[in-house]
Amino acid sequence: MRVKYALVTGGSRGIGRAICIKLASMGYNILLNYRSNDEQAQKSKEAIEITGVECEFLKFDVSDKNQVDTVVGGWIENNKEKTIEILVNNAGVREDNLLMWMTDTQWKNVIATNLDSFYFITRHIVAQMLAKRYGRIINVVSLSGIKGMAGQTNYSAAKAGLIGATKALAQEVARRGVTVNAVAPGFIETEMTAGLDEKTLSALVPMKRFGKAEEVAEAVGFFASTGSAYITGEVLNINGGLYS
Ligand code: NAP
Repeated sequence: MRVKYALVTGGSRGIGRAICIKLASMGYNILLNYRSNDEQAQKSKEAIEITGVECEFLKFDVSDKNQVDTVVGGWIENNKEKTIEILVNNAGVREDNLLMWMTDTQWKNVIATNLDSFYFITRHIVAQMLAKRYGRIINVVSLSGIKGMAGQTNYSAAKAGLIGATKALAQEVARRGVTVNAVAPGFIETEMTAGLDEKTLSALVPMKRFGKAEEVAEAVGFFASTGSAYITGEVLNINGGLYS
């Protein structure tokens, strides 16, 4: 039985599902986190298990420290013989508004889900990686965190913060064989972008199309591989040429 695991947050849909399938194809058992969509999580699980690995649900709200401590901390405590080699902090939300109209709830939810979650989850996992002297942490950020996007001060701040955290942690853990990198998607076809005017926005992209979740997952697969060992603190744009 395989004993190596990858924990992917927000694995029930979109980019997270594609990442789970990619890591499963690399032989990793998947710990699939999601918040509420049981039906979609089940679909991800089926697609993962077709590759021959196991998929276990870790259902919790990534923005809730108590839930993270209970579920992630509990799993580690109860599975001491198993190793989480890969952590992908992918779960995210956007709640767009101009700053002058933004509510406290919109600000707090977006910062908590996209940024606080990194802190809550990663500190549980990194200790084990340091002890084993091997680990791959990949954070899913955004073009918004690099160039800033009007109507997304909350989301841009959260993703920019996550980029800073990626670079800082990379330096803390580099000597122990643990790498920390980020992928920064532009416009990717998922439910998060379903409400956007794809035709108009695609015209802004040099490749003239939105990206696919699988195209983000390929890059995550590279950062998750042993072959990327000498790359850390890096942010890889995946945006069809739409740079700032
Ligand atoms: P999506 O289709 O909306 O899926 C979001 C995923 O995150 C779902 O699995 C959802 O779980 C989970 N999630 C949301 N809030 C959560 C919470 N509090 N606790 C646990 N899980 C939570 O989004 P996506 O487009 O795949 O986005 C994935 C990541 O890519 C996000 O970090 C996003 O910011 C980033 N990104 C996306 C794009 C894009 O164009 N799509 C561009 C740049 C960056 P449930 O199914 O249970 O709700």
